Amino acid sequence: MSKRLKGKTTIVTGGSSGIGESIACLFAKEGANVVILARREREGLEVSNKINKNGGISTFIKCDVSIRENVDMAIESAVKKYGNLNILVNNAGGGAPENFPNEDDEGWQRVLAVNLSGTFYCSRAIWPHLVSAEGGSIINVSSVAAQRGFSKKMFELSPRAPSASYYAAKAGVDAFTRYIAGVGGQYNIRVNGIRPGQIITPLTDRGNGEHSLKGVFDFVQILDGPGYPKDVANAALFLVSEDGRFITGEILNVDGGMPAKL
Ligand code: NAP
Repeated sequence: MSKRLKGKTTIVTGGSSGIGESIACLFAKEGANVVILARREREGLEVSNKINKNGGISTFIKCDVSIRENVDMAIESAVKKYGNLNILVNNAGGGAPENFPNEDDEGWQRVLAVNLSGTFYCSRAIWPHLVSAEGGSIINVSSVAAQRGFSKKMFELSPRAPSASYYAAKAGVDAFTRYIAGVGGQYNIRVNGIRPGQIITPLTDRGNGEHSLKGVFDFVQILDGPGYPKDVANAALFLVSEDGRFITGEILNVDGGMPAKL
């Protein structure tokens, strides 16, 4: 294999499951030192042990990305261990169970804290290390929810839409991506985003291999679904590697294609 990320130390938030796990494993195969940040120790260690057993290099650091002190300590530990940091994948995220207007304050704050503040805290903490490495790459995982809403027909197909907080947080992540891409130019730091669509993961699997929003996605997609974490990981690898050297401030949909208006 080509080892497109040889020696590049990469932080993957939410690397213990689903899309983040797939990114962690693929980047490690490509030669990256992968640092996984997540809250659940057993799951995180399982992934980093799997990578190490397969000849890769990986460490798990327990970290809730919605807590700034946790993030700052995790980034410092990663620097101590590997000496340099080169890539960040802000992937940790999720929604709340209630549709608007039934979402409570706690759900709204938590979803914004994990998806949006977590992306901010991690990017800010790693930034000086990317600057001192004379460049680097950040990927922010948002969602097709950042761009689109629900129609009456879509509510018929899936009565439970993701929460309003999720739509708002992911739209904020996209705006943040465009903003820091602009700041990164002078430091050779590229910042891009990925908006996954119908991707089967522990978060979305109904328990039968089908996405919880399958009805809606199948209605709007151009290609037959579903997609898998590897589809997102491949896009992330392209964007962070030398293959994507002239791309920044872009947000790539990995969603089987969705016409903006039907
Ligand atoms: P997943 O399998 O549930 O993975 C989510 C990961 O995030 C887990 O590793 C989880 O680990 C971590 N996480 C959650 N809250 C965290 C926190 N406060 N601090 C640190 N880590 C945290 O879900 P997924 O489907 O792979 O989702 C990955 C990303 O893709 C999310 O940002 C999601 O919004 C986005 N996305 C997914 C889809 C899809 O169809 N799957 C579609 C659009 C967007 P711990 O619980 O151990 O902390």
